[in-house]
This record gives sequence, structure tokens and C-alpha cells, in this order.
Amino acid sequence: MAPPPRMLLLGAGLSGGLLALALAELGVEVELAGGSLADSATGWSYGGVPWWAGAANPLGELLATAPRRWDQLQQRHGELGLRPAQLWLHWPEQAPPQAVAKVQQALAGLPQQPELTALSAHEAIEQEPLLAGADLGGVMQLPYWRVDPLAFQQGLERAWAAAGVQRCAPLPADELRQRLEQGESVVLCSGAATLALLKAMGLQTPSALDFSWAGVGQCDGAQLAAERIVMPLLGQRSGREAAVSGAAVICDPGLAPAPGGGLLVGQTSWFDRPIDDPPPVDEDLEQLSGVQSRLVPSLIESSHGPLRLQQQPVAYSRDQQPLLGPLPGCPNLSLFTGFGGPFALVPALTPLMAQALVTNDWSQIKGLGLLCR
Ligand SMILES: Cc1cc2nc3c(=O)[nH]c(=O)nc-3n(C[C@H](O)[C@H](O)[C@H](O)COP(=O)(O)OP(=O)(O)OC[C@H]3O[C@@H](n4cnc5c(N)ncnc54)[C@H](O)[C@@H]3O)c2cc1C
Repeated sequence: MAPPPRMLLLGAGLSGGLLALALAELGVEVELAGGSLADSATGWSYGGVPWWAGAANPLGELLATAPRRWDQLQQRHGELGLRPAQLWLHWPEQAPPQAVAKVQQALAGLPQQPELTALSAHEAIEQEPLLAGADLGGVMQLPYWRVDPLAFQQGLERAWAAAGVQRCAPLPADELRQRLEQGESVVLCSGAATLALLKAMGLQTPSALDFSWAGVGQCDGAQLAAERIVMPLLGQRSGREAAVSGAAVICDPGLAPAPGGGLLVGQTSWFDRPIDDPPPVDEDLEQLSGVQSRLVPSLIESSHGPLRLQQQPVAYSRDQQPLLGPLPGCPNLSLFTGFGGPFALVPALTPLMAQALVTNDWSQIKGLGLLCR
């Protein structure tokens, strides 16, 4: 009998963590290289599952299966941190009414038709007293799910052990090159580090793949009144990610429960910074303190103390489509990265990716337009 196939996965965040489980279920011997979730974008994420955000196409339909996929994963592997939640999309008092109306129309036209509830600033503050004194024009509420990063990490560790996934330390590029030369099958689930790894091995880098440095403020003790994520209705990040050039930094006024308790405040995205050179701490904190004073001014006067900064690089794809499958010219090295809305996309795509890796049949991934390019 042929021995079971073996695969080495680099990166134990959301993408590597779930792919390891899916491959193990298909009988693959999985070695998963990587550190703790606290050293990943996944570990400091808001963890929102934008299942309704896709277009009216096969990928959008797949995205809409994300809550069901998370539920199935939890039934199979136990608690992974999934919580029913609300998404609040807010706008400031002085926001141009046409811009607000345009996004509201787009939300109303979403093919998955999530239930939309409009809240006045007064109603929002009544439900969420933390927003008292905020610069708030109104809120659109949408149904959401959230994955708590700490519960996710604990659940993953249990599930990996039960599935026989072998863990090892992060792998430097020279060791990775050796393993590839020995003919091992490798999948890079290494998020923002993927580009640097490919460059260090002298390999071609996909032109659509990029990353930004994210900063988020952590405020201990403060808590939202319900399981909810607050984000700007007129966010700029996806537009900036699609552009080749533009603002060096954008700062989204958002709030989310912090992993294990407390509050995450704001999200900066710094573009054009090297992977080994995070943004200056004081400048990052200044941006996030601005969010605090506009969105949760009551926290400044309270006894919660200053924001603590967490910085992590986050991969994205400039054409908004993730990159899956063999790197052109290097058939035993595959990518699984560059996700937009990964907490919805990754659980939905993982079974297809695992199946394609085992069968080497990439037609379904190609049909979705996601094959590594
Ligand atoms: C503040 C914030 C809020 C966010 N909110 C949301 C949200 O609400 N919804 C959503 O869908 N997304 C959100 N995101 C984005 C999302 O968190 C990330 O895109 C996603 O978690 C990336 O997962 P990943 O597994 O691809 O990469 P990562 O989580 O970055 O994991 C990659 C891992 O690979 C490791 N690695 C790197 N090099 C090597 C190596 N040589 N060997 C082994 N391991 C290596 C890294 O250390 C890291 O642990 C948010 C991100 C941030 C920062």
C-alpha cells in the first residue's frame, strides 16, 4: 500500500490552521510550521465573518456558506470561537449624505439580502452606551458572526492534536528551499510573510499579492454592550488596497471585542512599509487615539488607561481575489493567501483547496478565478 501523502504547511494562522485540519481529514500527514496565533494577523483580528459580502457569482455563493461551514467545523472539532453578532456600520455627523445613501443602496442590493436595520445616532447610543459623545450621524446594522481569536487558538490546538497534525517551529527560507528541493509538497499559508519568503528563495512573486502593516489599540476593561463589531460605513481600506498608490496610511474607526476580554479600538493600515520595519509606535498610537476620541471619548476620561498597541502585517490581493494553488514554475509549492474577508472566505474555500492539493485537480479553483497568477 502506498504511504499516505505528506504535506508541509507554513503558517498556523486562520488559513494554515483550517487547511491543516481539512488535509488531515483527507488522510494527509500534515506538518504545520508556525508560532502562536498571537504572532499573526488572525490573533488580533476583529474576526468578523462577512458572509453576505459576495457578488452574485459562484464565489459569492460560496462565501455565503461560511456560517454553515463554521458550524460544521465546530460540530466536528469542538468550540472554535464562533459567536452570533451584529455589524454596525457607522458614519460621522458631517458625512456627505449622497455618499452615505450610495453605500446604503449597495447594501440593500446585496444578492444575499442580509436584514438591514437603520439606527439614528440617539438609538445607537442608547443600545451602546460606550458610544456616548461619539461623532455619529447614524448606524446601519447587519447580521454578522464573529470568531473570537483566543477561543479559536485554543480550539485549533485541541483539534490539531486530535487530528494528528504535527507542529514545528517557523521555517527559515533556506530550510524551506531544501525541503522543496527534496521534493516535499509545501503550502505557504504564511500571510504577509509570503512575499519575503518567495523573494528569499529567488522565486517569482505573484504581482497581485501585497501586504500592509495593521495597528490596533487594545483597551483593557472596557466592553461593548453586545456581541458586536463597529466599522465605518465609508471605509477606505479596500479601495486603497486595489490602488497601486495612494495614502501611506489609512485609519478605520472601528471597535470589536478584544481576544479574551477588553476592547479593540481602530485599525490602521500602513502601506509601502517593509515587512521587517513596522510603523513607528508613537505615530500608530496617535492615529488610534484619534479614533478613541472620535468614537469612544468616554474611555479617555475613564480609568481604563492608555491604549496598548498591537501591530501585525496583513496580506491582501490587489485584485481582491485570493491566490490559491501551485506557484507557476514550482509545482510542489502552493499558495493559500491574499484573502479579503478571510473569516468568511477561508472556511468556505478550505475543503476545495484541500481536495485540489490531494488530487492535483485545480479545475474548480481555476473556475472560480483564484488559481495562483
Ligand atoms: C485589526 C484587524 C482586524 C481585522 N478584522 C477582520 C475581520 O473582521 N474579518 C476578516 O475576515 N478579516 C479581518 N482581518 C484580516 C484577517 O485577520 C487576516 O487577513 C487573516 O487573519 C489572515 O490569516 P492568514 O492565516 O492568512 O495569515 P496570518 O494570520 O498572518 O498567519 C500567517 C502566519 O504565518 C506565520 N509565518 C510567517 N512566516 C513563516 C514561516 N517562515 N514559517 C512558519 N510560519 C510563518 C506568521 O507568523 C503567522 O503566524 C483583520 C485584521 C486585523 C489586523
